[in-house]
Amino acid sequence: MKSIVVFCGSSDGNDPDILEAGYHLGRTLAERNITLVYGAAKIGVMGKVAQGALDANGTVIGVIPDFLKVKEVFHSGLTELIITENMHQRKLKMHELSDGVITLPGGYGTLEELFEMTTWGQLGLHQKPMGILNTNGFYDSLLEMLQKMVDQDFLKQDNLEMLLTAASVEDLLSKMDAYQPLPIPKWIQSDQV
Ligand code: AMP
Repeated sequence: MKSIVVFCGSSDGNDPDILEAGYHLGRTLAERNITLVYGAAKIGVMGKVAQGALDANGTVIGVIPDFLKVKEVFHSGLTELIITENMHQRKLKMHELSDGVITLPGGYGTLEELFEMTTWGQLGLHQKPMGILNTNGFYDSLLEMLQKMVDQDFLKQDNLEMLLTAASVEDLLSKMDAYQPLPIPKWIQSDQV
């Protein structure tokens, strides 16, 4: 992987380990010469990831729609800042620039970005490794929900397994490096198709 897009909160949250994990992820990507692609904010977990990468002299590309530049306090010290017209273009641009996806704790925006990538993966539109950094079990209940979708035949086990999870940055990057995409079958589970 030469570049990874990171989705995470524009808020700080209240678990300092999560901010620390974000900073450590940024540093680690830089140390491995992996370009960080992200939503360009200077605030929240997003800001920590970027700062970690910049402090280790990494390459950081921020992508932000014009109307969010002030609201999300864009980072003016990035290697490159790409301004898009809207949220859809932002997501597409981040996708085009990256060959892996990592999600850290966040809110609605983070989940929206992650699940757009998993649904595109499920449709066979990309085969990138997608990882969740599950710091302090933040995503345990979401992973339980996804397992329930499998148990109730709304989601295929193979498609659940497209989503890699680990508690540490190092383990997650190892899993992503080793990831072998499976052939994409139909994702709909119904007798009528
Ligand atoms: P949040 O997890 O809600 O703090 O949001 C994290 C990031 O996701 C922020 O940069 C939001 O602007 C971004 N975001 C929110 N909704 C969307 C969306 N529909 N498409 C792309 N990015 C989004």
